[in-house]
Amino acid sequence: MITVDKALNMIVDNASPLSAKTMATEHAHTFVSVNDIVADRPLPPFNRVAMDGYAVRSTDFSSPEIELKLKGQIQTGIQSELVVEPGEAVNVMTGAPCPAGADAVVKVENSKVSGDVVTLHEDNIRPGLNIASMGEDKSRGDLLIQAGKPLSAADIAVAASVGLAEIEVYQKPRIKIISTGTEIVHPSVTPLDHQIRDCNSYSLRTMCRPYRLENEFLGIGEDDKDVLSALIQKGLDSEILLLSGGVSMGDYDHIPKLLSENGVKKIFHKIKVKPGKPVWFGKTDKETFVFGLPGNPVSVQSCFRIFVEPLIKKLSGYKQAQHAFLKLPLSQDAKSKTPREHYMPGKIKVTDSGTAVEPVQIRGSGDFSNFAESQGLFLMPGSKRVLEKGELVDFLPWSDTW
Ligand code: AMP
Ligand code: MG
Repeated sequence: MITVDKALNMIVDNASPLSAKTMATEHAHTFVSVNDIVADRPLPPFNRVAMDGYAVRSTDFSSPEIELKLKGQIQTGIQSELVVEPGEAVNVMTGAPCPAGADAVVKVENSKVSGDVVTLHEDNIRPGLNIASMGEDKSRGDLLIQAGKPLSAADIAVAASVGLAEIEVYQKPRIKIISTGTEIVHPSVTPLDHQIRDCNSYSLRTMCRPYRLENEFLGIGEDDKDVLSALIQKGLDSEILLLSGGVSMGDYDHIPKLLSENGVKKIFHKIKVKPGKPVWFGKTDKETFVFGLPGNPVSVQSCFRIFVEPLIKKLSGYKQAQHAFLKLPLSQDAKSKTPREHYMPGKIKVTDSGTAVEPVQIRGSGDFSNFAESQGLFLMPGSKRVLEKGELVDFLPWSDTW
């Protein structure tokens, strides 16, 4: 059995970013930019007035309150040749270019106009007051968004601001999903005593949503080789096929053998982890990646987060496809019986003394109802059986697609 680290490296190293496409910047949220995005002009592009008020020469302030000749007005968006000479002020609006000669802006609240004279009061006059000078945020050519980063709302704003109405991004993987198990029925069916309603296809499809992945549920396959083979064949027409159930050691756990028979080459089977020990991973010659996930709902959700998401990230062009854990203290002791690396459900607890992870008690991998209280997974290393209150743990929130 391989370790989690080894499995994650094998997943990420076997995949490469998909090909690029050009899309409208307004639709590019969560897509990953292929290119570095740089400033096409200084930011701000001119000495920008930061307050509605009066552009002045700071050296005119021989005392906090002075009278100046009101020379005119500069409206935002209108070009002006006005120059502020000694003894003069120009009325300016937020966002307008600061007129030549002026080096400070006194806010309108500190002014009184009478005819063409303005009285200004400013206790803290200094050059640069209420002016954002040209290039103070970034110079022309400075890096604004690094290639390989998923685009946030703020990044989309930056891209638009440097004139990119379209942007080159990596395509995202299309996902196909199959639930397996003779006992599994559709949620709309009233189950017989021995039957279980399918919930795995629901959690998996929902977990694809923050990444905005096209995904399709191919249906529930009973534990019959022909039925499952036919479904697998349909699923291989995608970048990632996810199956739940049928990967363990039971007589009806056909999935590993059927995947091999259908041209999926095994990369690994079984990981030293809890939950998720029976995870099967492979790919076809046509670069369809396949995960056989254990059927327990807790395992499915945990394994998607731990193992499938780094693959999605790598294929989508993320430079950082591996997990970035948060480091948080535990709010109370946590115990595990397994010598495997254990990803345990936790929720965030905020108190006056800080933020901590509180373990969520579940009765096992089938206990999806108590598990639903969790906000992420914290890691109990394989070398430990106990983590004490206050110890820092690696915490993986359920979503990090900011
Ligand atoms: P398996 O991995 O096939 O041995 O399944 C492990 C457990 O998960 C069994 O109790 C199954 O009934 C349950 N299970 C499998 N698939 C699903 C599903 N799609 N929805 C809910 N429970 C499932
Ligand atoms: Mg099964």
